[in-house]
Amino acid sequence: MTTVSTVKTLLQRPPTVMMEVLKGHGVRYASLLHQESYIGGRWVAASSGKVFPVTNPATGKVISSVPDMGEVDTQAAIDSAYEAFQTWQRTTAKERSLLLRKWYDLMEAHKEELAGIMTAEAGKPLVEARGEVSYGSSFLEWYSEEAKRIHGEVVQSPSVNKEMIFLRQPIGVASMITPWNFPNAMITRKAGAALAAGCTCVIKPAEDTPLSALAAVDLAEKAGFPPGVINVVTASKDNTPAVGNLMCTSDKVAAISFTGSTTVGQLLYRQCSEGIKRIGLELGGNAPFIVFASADIPSAVEGLMVAKFRNAGQACISANRVLVEDSVYETFVKTLTTEVAERLVVGDGSHPQVNIGPLINVAQLKRVERIVEASVAAGARVVLGGKRHSLGGLFFQPTILVDVKEDMPCFQQEIFGPVIALRRFQSEDEAVAIANASECGLASYFYSQDVSQVWRVARRLECGIVGINEGLVSAAEGAFGGIKKSGIGREGSRHGIDDYTYIKYICLGGIN
Ligand code: ADP
Repeated sequence: MTTVSTVKTLLQRPPTVMMEVLKGHGVRYASLLHQESYIGGRWVAASSGKVFPVTNPATGKVISSVPDMGEVDTQAAIDSAYEAFQTWQRTTAKERSLLLRKWYDLMEAHKEELAGIMTAEAGKPLVEARGEVSYGSSFLEWYSEEAKRIHGEVVQSPSVNKEMIFLRQPIGVASMITPWNFPNAMITRKAGAALAAGCTCVIKPAEDTPLSALAAVDLAEKAGFPPGVINVVTASKDNTPAVGNLMCTSDKVAAISFTGSTTVGQLLYRQCSEGIKRIGLELGGNAPFIVFASADIPSAVEGLMVAKFRNAGQACISANRVLVEDSVYETFVKTLTTEVAERLVVGDGSHPQVNIGPLINVAQLKRVERIVEASVAAGARVVLGGKRHSLGGLFFQPTILVDVKEDMPCFQQEIFGPVIALRRFQSEDEAVAIANASECGLASYFYSQDVSQVWRVARRLECGIVGINEGLVSAAEGAFGGIKKSGIGREGSRHGIDDYTYIKYICLGGIN
């Protein structure tokens, strides 16, 4: 485990030795590894000189360390972004498009390296890490195209001597706070849209996964983005609240985009209220996954495997509450149990056969364990797993719980782990009522072959995203976001640009 002395020893090592350490943890190349943050086009240490360790969740070993920045460094990053905005906002859409496209090309060219770094710091199996890099780079490709289609409007004037025009202008400096579960894509999804619109950005990656952020931004620098247009501030858990507060309250910041827990989202929303900042929030979910009697059961099982076990269940759109119609319940549970038992291989994600990695940290492990234990104590029955994995460390067994009731923790809370909780239902109305009985409204999934039911249920579900006969809904082309306590705004799609532009209404009068 991490100790102060190991951290110091690693810091004293020259970069080549650092690379050797990382190679032992799944990172095969190391040209994108950074131990400094990126502000104003320079790779810099924290002004305090402090660093914090980055650990591999599969081994518990320290693999690197990065600057532990505070308010002084954050202010420097905001100042750089503000200064860069003065010229970046006046670049043409085509110039911005070309840079985004170059960044995309470089991400694709360095996929293996980016994936290796991600697996080493996030524990994600290599195959999934490669998938995330493709997903992440697809936002850069998409927004390199959308940059050229940020159109204004000329509207019908009520007067012959006036013309009325709406321009869409970049809002300014955008702060971005991102989570550890998708350490590449949550950055590109925000930065791609912001940069396309003509905004500059200050990014604070999650403390568990700063290396992926720094590696991605290394490629942005190589693509040719001017100094100050993209800045990365790394900070430990202790320094994060002060850094986050400044990112929300600085007069020079126009917008904030956050992906993470609802609790932190609420805090940032409050912090942004004083300055009336533009805010985009992508928060927690508690996705229902409904299997109706008409469903194709093998596809529904397959969809659930994808919607649940991607990233070991650590995704805000993970299926969380599985509802199965009475007449197909036994068959569904039986097929699912066989698939889970036979297909999932738990272990260090750098091994090619592994498809379930560890949880990200001890807090998450304890949380998942607590949710399972409390649900079992309340009457849920374990069909598979249910405990920490015999591998030890941060590994948890793929778990199936049946006889679940709505008031149990596994239905009330976002599990964020490899645990499937199933409940039987008798009617469509009952299933929809249970699905909607949540404070969250991010993703929902359902399987049905009844066309009328497909439309009825899609309309009635209270959420921002619906997967119908499909467990994988994420794509740069899709409008991602929630309602209720799951957030505000949309990311991806053409709507992702909205958070970074404002409409300027120009009224041109005096026309004779
Ligand atoms: P999780 O519980 O899944 O780690 P968080 O919401 O705590 O989710 O983390 C998501 C991001 O929010 C991370 O980058 C984290 O550092 C950041 N964060 C956590 N607390 C704060 C805070 N008080 N202010 C600003 N950012 C925060």
